[in-house]
Amino acid sequence: MYFKRIDMHGFKSFAEPVSIEFNHGITCIVGPNGSGKSNISDALRWVLGEQSPKTLRGGKMEDVIFAGTANRKSRGMAEVVLVIDNSTGILPIDYSEVAITRRVFRSGESEYYINNNQCRLKDIRELIMDTGIGVDGYSLIGQGKIADIVSNKPESRREIFEEAAGIVKYRSKKAEAERKLEATNVNLERVNDIVSEIE
Ligand code: ATP
Repeated sequence: MYFKRIDMHGFKSFAEPVSIEFNHGITCIVGPNGSGKSNISDALRWVLGEQSPKTLRGGKMEDVIFAGTANRKSRGMAEVVLVIDNSTGILPIDYSEVAITRRVFRSGESEYYINNNQCRLKDIRELIMDTGIGVDGYSLIGQGKIADIVSNKPESRREIFEEAAGIVKYRSKKAEAERKLEATNVNLERVNDIVSEIE
C-alpha cells in the first residue's frame, strides 16, 4: 500500500486544481517559504479525517477553503482526493486502487467518498484503521511529534504500538458493542418497569 496521488482543489493556497504524483521511493517537496509545502501535508491529514482546525493551522474548519487574494476570488468549496495503491490488499476493500475524497463547503457541510461512493467519516476511519496512516497514526509525523512521543504518557505511547499491531479496530468494535449493550440494558429495564406496572 502506498499513496499514489493527491489532488487538491480550493484547498488552502491551491485555488486551482493541483495534482501531485508520488512515485516509488522518496518524494521531497521543496519551495520558498510560504509557497504551500505544509499545506500539502495538511491536505493529507485533512482527507484522512482530521477534525481539529488547530492541527491544520486554522481557527475553524472553513479556513481550509481558499480565502482569495487581491486578484483571485475566494472559493466556496475545498476538495482533496487521495489515491492509494491497495494491490497488497491491506485496506479491507475489494479494489486495488482506493480514492478517498473529502469536501467542505462554506456552509460548514462536509462530504466524504470512497471510490466515488458517498460515505461517512466513520467508514473512512474504519477503512484506514490499523494501517498507520490515520490522523493519529504513526505514518504522519508532524513538526514536534517526535518530542511529543518521547515525552508522552506510557498510555499514549502504547496507542502507537497498538495501531502498529493492528488491534485498534478490535478495540473500537469492542467499545461500540459495549455502547450498544448498555443501550439495550437501559431499554430492557424500561420494558421490565412497564411489565411490572401492568402486572
Ligand atoms: P514554510 O517553508 O515557511 O514553512 P510552506 O511552504 O510550508 O512555508 P505553507 O505554510 O504551506 O507554506 O503555506 C502558507 C501559505 O498558504 C500562506 O501564504 C497562506 O496565506 C496560504 N494559505 C493558507 N490558508 C489559506 C487559505 N485558506 N486561502 C488562501 N491561502 C491560504
